[in-house]
Amino acid sequence: MAIGKTRGVFRFGGEGGARGDRLLDGARAAGLCRAYEDLNLGAFWSTDADGRLTYLSPAAEAALCGERDARGVPLLDLFLRPEGEGERTLPFVFARKGRFERVIVRSDGEDGRTLWWSISGEPQTVRGSFAGFLGHVRDVTDERQSAEESSHLAMHDPLTGLLNRRHMTRLLEKTLTAFALQKRACATMLIDLDRFKQVNDTMGHAVGDALLKQVAERLVRVVGDKEKVSRLGGDEFQVFLPDTDDRGLLGDLATKIITSISQPYTIEGARCLIGASVGVAVAPFDGSVTDELVRNADLALYAAKGSGRGRFRFFSQDLLKAAEDRRVLEEDLHDALARGELELFYQPVVRAENNRVVGVEALVRWNHPELGSISPARFIPIAEESNLIRVIGEWVLRRACADATGWPGGLRVAVNVSPVQFADEGFPAIVASALASSGLHPDRLELEITEGVFLQEGCTTDARFNSLKGLGVRLALDDFGTGYSSLGYLKSAPFDKIKIDQSFVRGATEDQSRNQAIIAAIVALAQALDMETTAEGVESFDQFDLMKRLNVTLVQGYIYSRPIPHEEFLRCLAEGDWVIEPSGPAKQRHYRQAMFRRIGAIHDNHYYPVVLRNLSVSGALIEGLVEVPVGTEFVVDLGEGQLAVSTVRRSRKSQQGVEFEHALVSDGNGGLCTRHRVSPYQLAAAGLPQGGGQEGPTMLGRGEDGKITMPAFVMSSDWKGSGAPG
Ligand code: C2E
Ligand code: CA
Ligand code: CA
Repeated sequence: MAIGKTRGVFRFGGEGGARGDRLLDGARAAGLCRAYEDLNLGAFWSTDADGRLTYLSPAAEAALCGERDARGVPLLDLFLRPEGEGERTLPFVFARKGRFERVIVRSDGEDGRTLWWSISGEPQTVRGSFAGFLGHVRDVTDERQSAEESSHLAMHDPLTGLLNRRHMTRLLEKTLTAFALQKRACATMLIDLDRFKQVNDTMGHAVGDALLKQVAERLVRVVGDKEKVSRLGGDEFQVFLPDTDDRGLLGDLATKIITSISQPYTIEGARCLIGASVGVAVAPFDGSVTDELVRNADLALYAAKGSGRGRFRFFSQDLLKAAEDRRVLEEDLHDALARGELELFYQPVVRAENNRVVGVEALVRWNHPELGSISPARFIPIAEESNLIRVIGEWVLRRACADATGWPGGLRVAVNVSPVQFADEGFPAIVASALASSGLHPDRLELEITEGVFLQEGCTTDARFNSLKGLGVRLALDDFGTGYSSLGYLKSAPFDKIKIDQSFVRGATEDQSRNQAIIAAIVALAQALDMETTAEGVESFDQFDLMKRLNVTLVQGYIYSRPIPHEEFLRCLAEGDWVIEPSGPAKQRHYRQAMFRRIGAIHDNHYYPVVLRNLSVSGALIEGLVEVPVGTEFVVDLGEGQLAVSTVRRSRKSQQGVEFEHALVSDGNGGLCTRHRVSPYQLAAAGLPQGGGQEGPTMLGRGEDGKITMPAFVMSSDWKGSGAPG
């Protein structure tokens, strides 16, 4: 430590020696410098003309040289080589022999730590020639670290280390602005955990936090890039996917995310299970600015949660309209009961080995005075959200029990119970009262509940199950094969029956489907636990035969009977033992959704408004044009930039069956959509309506040369000009 021990008097910035009258000042200055060094506020250094150290404050010497003697060591050797070149690097400023300030340099500290220094220097001259530097150096490692930490903090969620909401929003804003100019697509997904709150409430916040961390890790693993995943707060996450508009791939990714998050977690030795719902929106189709895109992804998420959780959903314009329709329906639903607009239909449940009816399921119908019959699939979710489900559910229960007491024989009646009803503390009392006032034997009442009851917040499921079983009623697990389909529920809850969902049955007949193996496993488990199995929605013989082969005992579906009104049901019953012969198609075609939707068909620069009557993965039935020859090619405009190249395969009067060149993909909600969309920019450039055919006829009618051409097809007079046919 030679230099440290031979501290001398400094003379700053001066040529020549100290003059006598300044000596006192010089001694004072040296004292101050020493105090400054001792307080470790900074260090001084000096070099000779070759850049070798002639002085270095003791603390800096210890930090930079360790046990080594600093004297004579080239100053540049104390620091790491700069990563780049430039005017602000130490070698550069040193070579220039000019004054420099606050150049940042690094050195190796203890334990492989990097130390950061801020160094300044003043050239010294002796008789006009450069004699070395005199300077100051300060350790700025801590400042730098806290600056880095605070910028990391400003951008990241402290719990999971993912991007935070602010940063994700900024990222989206920047990307969308850039992409709008380049006409590139960008998708975003909003992910909401199902049942997280329950875990947090019952197992504690520490477990909740650990769970969120694991969810974040899984998300990053599935998405493959940490910089694209953010936690928005609570149990909400967002994923950002630039240059992605393939809805097939997006659907696959959403499914992977849901599957991954729904796998069990082990936290502090305890296991827990949650799920996730996902809403997807793709720019520029679903919005070209951040607010709109995120709001629409949120609407899609809301719809996904409403359709049973554990699902994904793409945004579509329909969702905006659906939100409005819901409001209107909800108002009407308030009075539906009082006005006697609700009615129960009954669908037989049949033992497959002898075609004998063993029970029925009660299915509620709403006869709306203006809109006609409204499906429970549509109004039950509205009732659930507005709490009307309690009164409607109670009415259904009492009506079904009362109806059933009048039936000859011991037919069972199954009643659907919404998770909202189930969670209600008074529910067992309502069931008891319905049984007592109708006089129905409890064993003849079967309550159908879905996995949703396990997701209901603030409900002690075990206690509820016990009190219901105490009444002597039977319990069925409905819709198995949708949602989480955890076999764990079967073991823990006292079910008498498990109902395999129709989507699962339908999927089972497809090649390479895993559903068959899963159904076989469910049947085996059900037998072991002494439960019955019902296959729902069986329509065709291939499904029917498969279910029998898999030992499913009961079948409910169109192959036996549709749900029928009570009077019709009573007529069938009057004929004694009720046996139904199965009847239906041999095989199920690609499932066709029947519909009535205005769309467009483009042919030779003409845009024809047509009506979509049904839609499947591989084709559609369109209506509105006459005398269209088989083999004609159309571009079918399904709306919102969904253009499907198709060929007419069948043609009858004003209806054509068309086959798509590329198969459609699932929209996550039982609906279908095209894999890719044409962006609004391209639609506008082509003069196409951006909202699809619904906006009314738009004739292009111009050839490439700009000349007006005549349309090749004539619109059917049945509906041309009429408002809303059908
Ligand atoms: P769910 O409990 O799964 O009822 C079976 C649904 O499948 C019924 O639809 C029935 O008409 C339909 N279905 C039966 N066989 C076939 C078939 O072979 N092919 C096809 N494509 N469909 C078939 P529905 O009556 O429209 O009811 C829809 C859903 O609404 C029900 O699904 C149930 O979740 C709910 N729901 C109906 N009534 C009530 C009720 O009183 N209370 C509650 N909470 N929910 C109800
Ligand atoms: Ca049911
Ligand atoms: Ca069902």
